Amino acid sequence: MSNLRSFALKETLNRKPRLTEEAHNRRSELYAANVFNKETQRHYLDSAAFTALQEAIVHGKRIDRSIADQCASAMKAWALNRGATHYTHWFQPLTGTTAEKHDAFFEPIGDGKAMEKFGGSQLVQQEPDASSFPNGGIRNTFEARGYTAWDPSSPAFVMGSTLCIPTIFVSYTGEALDNKTPLLRALQAVDNAATDVAKYFDKNVKKVIVTLGWEQEFFLIDDALAKARPDIMMSGRTLLGHSSAKGQQLDDHYFGSIPSRALAYLRELEFECVSLAIPVKTRHNEVAPNQFEIAPLFEEANLAVDHNSLLMDVMTKVAERHHFKVLFHEKPFAGINGSGKHNNWSLATDTGVNLLAPGKTPMSNLQFLTFFVNTIMAVHNHADLLRASIASASNDHRLGANEAPPAIISVFIGEQLTKVLDNLEKVSSGKLSPEEKTELKLNVVGKIPYVLLDNTDRNRTSPFAFTGQKFEFRAVGSTANCAVPMTVLNTIMADQLILFKAKVDSLIEKKKMKKDDAIFNVLRDYIKKSKSIRFEGDGYGDAWVKEAKKRGLSNNKNTPDALAVKINKENIKLFEKHNILSHVESEARYEIELEDYVMRVQIEGRVIGDLANSYIIPTAIEYQNMLLKNVRGLKEIFGASYKKHAGDQLEMIQTISKHIAGVRKNVYEMVEERKKANKMTDGAKKAKAYCNKVKPYFEKIRVHCDQLELMVSDELWPLPKYRELLLTK
Ligand code: ADP
Ligand code: MG
Repeated sequence: MSNLRSFALKETLNRKPRLTEEAHNRRSELYAANVFNKETQRHYLDSAAFTALQEAIVHGKRIDRSIADQCASAMKAWALNRGATHYTHWFQPLTGTTAEKHDAFFEPIGDGKAMEKFGGSQLVQQEPDASSFPNGGIRNTFEARGYTAWDPSSPAFVMGSTLCIPTIFVSYTGEALDNKTPLLRALQAVDNAATDVAKYFDKNVKKVIVTLGWEQEFFLIDDALAKARPDIMMSGRTLLGHSSAKGQQLDDHYFGSIPSRALAYLRELEFECVSLAIPVKTRHNEVAPNQFEIAPLFEEANLAVDHNSLLMDVMTKVAERHHFKVLFHEKPFAGINGSGKHNNWSLATDTGVNLLAPGKTPMSNLQFLTFFVNTIMAVHNHADLLRASIASASNDHRLGANEAPPAIISVFIGEQLTKVLDNLEKVSSGKLSPEEKTELKLNVVGKIPYVLLDNTDRNRTSPFAFTGQKFEFRAVGSTANCAVPMTVLNTIMADQLILFKAKVDSLIEKKKMKKDDAIFNVLRDYIKKSKSIRFEGDGYGDAWVKEAKKRGLSNNKNTPDALAVKINKENIKLFEKHNILSHVESEARYEIELEDYVMRVQIEGRVIGDLANSYIIPTAIEYQNMLLKNVRGLKEIFGASYKKHAGDQLEMIQTISKHIAGVRKNVYEMVEERKKANKMTDGAKKAKAYCNKVKPYFEKIRVHCDQLELMVSDELWPLPKYRELLLTK
């Protein structure tokens, strides 16, 4: 073997765990060492500035210039102490990754002198050279420039030698160009709406925050092997490759012991996370070989989203030191479990109550039921929008692929809560008699157990499951920025809670109902209306697809279909109504996502074509020549009777020719379809063409290549095989 594969395989033979010196058992001391958090702020700011900053963080108050100057100089002093030499505004443009532009603190001040400079104006606002970020035509139509603006609610941190300041990214005319801006707007909307509703139960509630705990799944593979695979390097997944004799079928990986190299990586990663105050707690092997999960304690959603983006950055950086490549792709290997990013979501009041946790009294349970039923109603009314929020070229490989949640959105709540809702549904409408109310409070609402028993054996096939004290949105892709689904979920929840409150208030005013009666009445109505979205059975089976169709649930299997709902009239209005996205912003995002889809499938198409033509076919021919030489030799020795000895070889020669022809034909046809698609100017049509005309060829090409992989001498095969990628420890 003289190819890159053989070189990579030799490299992996010498791999050892990278053992670091850090005091791993003293993590509590290290916690948040690299974060300019409340503690540090108190230490570095005078009390007036500290109070002003907290007001801005908690209540979104404006920060005036002199306070900004003080914050900047405090941050600078702290960051220089932490060894920082540069600063950057850190933001999340619509590329799906994070962006930074580093500037040095250092500035010459004349007379051959220099000093470290960083003032309020640099802290508050910057103008990154942003013309290369996706904007969906916004900056062309409006104003050429965009700027980043400080988000004080997410604390600054030092990474390496750079002070990073979380910011939003908007155009000069105010349109959002990032994922954070609409998220912050949605969090505000749901805060307002949920606070109003929570006041029915406790007048002291002044604010409701969203809590998010994500669970990040990923694969770790040796970086030398990854580099020998152009498909992994360029598209994040394997486009070819026959399954290995041993895969995940023995189920020996899930919660199995973590290989020492991976463990060393995870330890160093956790070490970095702790110093950045990302509260990482758990890790274990996932179902597939070399697959892992990392999950923090839940946090306020804006911070949790930043922490997930930051974690993905840190994971990539630490992996380099360990000679690993992290694969975040939802489906890096055919036939092997994919990766997701569960979003555990709930609402909490500033009085310390989790609004999705059953309480100990009937009243607190009525509050729980209110938020619980409203969530189900929101998902029922906007399931297609929720589906759109997780649509991407890579997540298409996972949703509905028989091992991940289906593309049909449904809600699982468990047996106990189903009973509660069934009983609530039976309540007669209108004013409740005192007896009925007592009965209801004692035997229905009062019977919700504080700890929900059946949430331990919960339904793993549901895309949106209540898992005790929180809903878990499981269909989110592992590459996703959580801000996107979180923006949608919180927007539809805000909308729903506003409708709910209007209804309850009108029953109180117009029908002279008591508050409880009114709430029961509206909830009962919602339970009835939202029934079709509830599903407790197996979400992976074909039976569910049929049943869901009967119920009229949407089942948008691919990204172009799923995204289309984002720009229908109602949804554009919905986002406008709550000031989350303007019409222009909605349209722009839709364009960007379509373009992203097209680009990704296009890249995959090019890569698979190149691999097939310039890796696989030449290798197949080389091996076929070996066979031909062998047959010629046999002929030389055995003369006319050679066929008796060369029958199998002749058959193999023919089979190889057949597969070569199959590869060439399908690559040719795929390229023709790509040419047609590329000529299309309508974004939606183009995406559909890539989805329905170009992409199906990937599988057709792959089948022939994978068959050749099984036949051709292992010595000659140029690409690291599945067993090497997946079982190298
Ligand atoms: P698992 O789903 O693996 O069984 P848990 O149920 O303990 O584990 O929690 C999974 C995730 O849910 C964790 O990341 C945790 O932080 C998060 N979580 C727990 N409670 C809440 C909540 N109230 N709001 C948001 N996330 C939560
Ligand atoms: Mg989970």
